[in-house]
Amino acid sequence: LVPRLRPFTSTIFAEITQLAVRTGAINLGQGFPDEDGPAALLADAQQAIATGANQYPPAPGLPALREAVAAHQRRFYDLDAQDVLVTTGATEAIAAAVLALCGPGDEVVVFEPYYDSYPAVIAMAGATRRTVPLRAPDFQPDPAELRAAFGPRTKAVLVNTPHNPTGAVFGPDTLRAVADLAIAHDAVVLTDEVYEHMTFDAEHVPMATLPGMAERTLTISSAGKTFSVTGWKIGWVHGPAGLVAAVRAVKQFLTFASGAPFQPAVAAALATADYAAISAGLRPKRDLMVSGLRAAGMRVFEPRGTYFVVADLAPLGVTDAAEYARAMPEKVGVAAVPVSVFCDDPDLAPTLLRFAFCKRTEVLEQALSRL
Ligand code: PMP
Ligand code: GLN
Repeated sequence: LVPRLRPFTSTIFAEITQLAVRTGAINLGQGFPDEDGPAALLADAQQAIATGANQYPPAPGLPALREAVAAHQRRFYDLDAQDVLVTTGATEAIAAAVLALCGPGDEVVVFEPYYDSYPAVIAMAGATRRTVPLRAPDFQPDPAELRAAFGPRTKAVLVNTPHNPTGAVFGPDTLRAVADLAIAHDAVVLTDEVYEHMTFDAEHVPMATLPGMAERTLTISSAGKTFSVTGWKIGWVHGPAGLVAAVRAVKQFLTFASGAPFQPAVAAALATADYAAISAGLRPKRDLMVSGLRAAGMRVFEPRGTYFVVADLAPLGVTDAAEYARAMPEKVGVAAVPVSVFCDDPDLAPTLLRFAFCKRTEVLEQALSRL
């Protein structure tokens, strides 16, 4: 492996999931639901296979899906998607965007804790990351620290709201501050909104809706989280034609096209899904986890979005959550992910664990009773 990628040899998700499987622990580590998406969606993909959607689809994506993404953005955010590119999950959209826009000498601003693929693809591009800390309890960036991360080499900013792992939803002040700095430094905003339909008493506001931002923002989302089909790996990116063309140039040589039979199924789901049911279904699980983890003696930061909750184990005397997370499946029978692996700064979150609550209620209850 080339030296610049040696820090990225394994992902925490694979590691913790393997540990959970080996020990028989309840896996609240990797974020995937334990129930599949809507029956009609699953049937549509089976039908697409049965009726011949098995060869390469158009490289930019099935027109019906690209149109459905645009219609979704209009409906929820009054946003003109401009050009839409279908990708192999949000992961490919993020990677192709960073590879398309950033190179050696360029800096990319990221918030830490970050999603683990961000630093890896920034390193693949040969660019440099500049991190802005998000601190408990509210996990919004400090304006001065945010400003300090921008400079003459800033090429892009990677935003993720609702935010994995903290569950924070970026408020209007934070979004405006990011937008102003991006405009001042002529930077592109890459915004990862895969948890857009999972919010609790908070409004998800896409970066691209802020004045002056549509022309410099690439908006990324995915079917995996919204429709509980994380294994399908159908995502998309939209934005101005010039920026999307750059991403398409990279995507064509990464994967060329993405999962043919899943695309018509996702197109139909985008138009017909019961979106309100997503947050409504997750809310009681969030509440159960927040109160259960508190009862177990942790300090819990109630999430406003996503299906993750972060808890501090310091009140239990834990000083190294990473070490604890590796022992917990065996000792307690529950797996979770340490937040420190998503941070450059070792002092930012040494005692925090992330628990996924996209699981059946009885599974969460069992996990809490073990904890
Ligand atoms: N971004 C964030 C913040 C995520 O949590 C995930 C994991 N679902 C992804 C991107 C990857 O999405 P996908 O599975 O669609 O590639
Ligand atoms: N997005 C998922 C999470 O945060 C994991 C995806 C993966 O395993 N790479 O848990």
